[in-house]
Amino acid sequence: MQYIDNVLSKIAEQNPNQPEFLQAVTEVYSSLTPIVSENEKVYKEAALLERLAEPDRTVSFRVSWKDDGGNVHVNKGYRVQFNNAIGPYKGGLRFHPSVNLSVLKFLGFEQIFKNSLTTLPMGGAKGGSDFDPKGKTDSEIMSFCQSFMTELYRHIGQFTDVPAGDIGVGGREIGYLFGQYKRICGAYENGVLTGKGLSFGGSLIRPEATGFGSIYFLEEVMASRSDGVKGKTFALSGFGNVAWGAALKIIALGGKVITLSGQDGTLYFKNGLPTEAAEYMPASRTNGVTKEEFAKKFGGEFLAGKKPWGLFGADVCMPCATQNEITAETAGSFSRLGVKYVNEAANMPTTNEALALLKSQGIVVCPAKASNAGGVAVSGLEMSQNSERLCWTKEEVDDKLKNIMKNIYAQINSACERYSLGFDLVAGANIAGFKKVADAMLAQGIY
Ligand code: NDP
Repeated sequence: MQYIDNVLSKIAEQNPNQPEFLQAVTEVYSSLTPIVSENEKVYKEAALLERLAEPDRTVSFRVSWKDDGGNVHVNKGYRVQFNNAIGPYKGGLRFHPSVNLSVLKFLGFEQIFKNSLTTLPMGGAKGGSDFDPKGKTDSEIMSFCQSFMTELYRHIGQFTDVPAGDIGVGGREIGYLFGQYKRICGAYENGVLTGKGLSFGGSLIRPEATGFGSIYFLEEVMASRSDGVKGKTFALSGFGNVAWGAALKIIALGGKVITLSGQDGTLYFKNGLPTEAAEYMPASRTNGVTKEEFAKKFGGEFLAGKKPWGLFGADVCMPCATQNEITAETAGSFSRLGVKYVNEAANMPTTNEALALLKSQGIVVCPAKASNAGGVAVSGLEMSQNSERLCWTKEEVDDKLKNIMKNIYAQINSACERYSLGFDLVAGANIAGFKKVADAMLAQGIY
């Protein structure tokens, strides 16, 4: 569509050297043709697509910290506050050497639509640093987190912007970040961060939420095709928070997890990952157990330097590590390996070329902004509990999470029907997430 093509060209000109961000915008906007055609005049007059692709603000700052030897290091820190049309900015913090503005802008942009799909009142944001937590001691991590928050605190707040974790930022880091926020502000505002420890306002099920939610979403998709998780084989990437939650739920539902992975290689479990191995994943990371040691301990193999895709037959491929893991080259092998579903638990794990290829092969893609929305959804529930000064039970939170994931599928399904998209869940999710934000932006005037 001409209007969308023109907007995409302009955004590409305005954001040179930001390939991940341009990839995310192209993926979303290219699928909006049906809804944009219906509203072209209004959207054009309000420059809606142009405004939506420019963050409300981007904060960039220096993070200086000392290692255990007393040496001073300097890292880059960022917070991208993308859009708050439907609620306070909300999105995780990523600590990884690959972090730059392009990566954070793609994540913040995706977060707008994901948060909209949850039906909870949350806008989109993302932040982080190029700091590499690998190999750092606990005191170095604390020193870094305290320095990071010493600048970030002035930009966030329970009604302004509520960060959470992401790659390299788990419960420990959120604890140090919250401690520093509290120290600076002198008030117990625990709604300012989510993913907190249980003893200071965290929610039950938050650590498991992204992985659990992703499987609940997949169950909805499979059920619509008279299919289910039981007896299916799953190839997962990642060995972190999301892979752990997903593995636990797959095994509990009678599925078999045959792979996991780290940056250094792939773990292969021919007979499926045992329950006790899945349960041990977080402790193995904190205890410094290598992937190879872990694989051996639980009857698996470690394939150094290998990625998990294209090696083994599986019913479901589930990227749970990072962006652009599945390229056209790897996706090309999926049909031959019997893959029927790609369940995107990581953010933007599939390149746009691979998405087109999977679609042409009839492989169902469960898009990240729907499938991994359970994490931010339970973060939203954590905010509700903090506001109420109450703590809900595990069952209450899990039930709410299930309902949210069902509801996300229902919204996508209805967008697919309304716009005759067939079973294109990627387009359905983009349109359903976009509509609510677009309506709110139009109602709130030009700014
Ligand atoms: P973690 O830091 O807990 O784990 C990340 C895992 O991915 C690790 O096993 C890590 O390997 C691997 N990994 C990281 N970078 C790369 C890379 N460049 N190449 C290959 N493997 C890599 O992160 P999460 O589990 O929290 O996040 C995983 C994905 O899920 C991300 O895309 C994140 O944005 C997304 N997500 C996370 C949510 C959450 O609630 N945590 C919510 C929604 C989405 P190694 O073990 O070697 O370090």
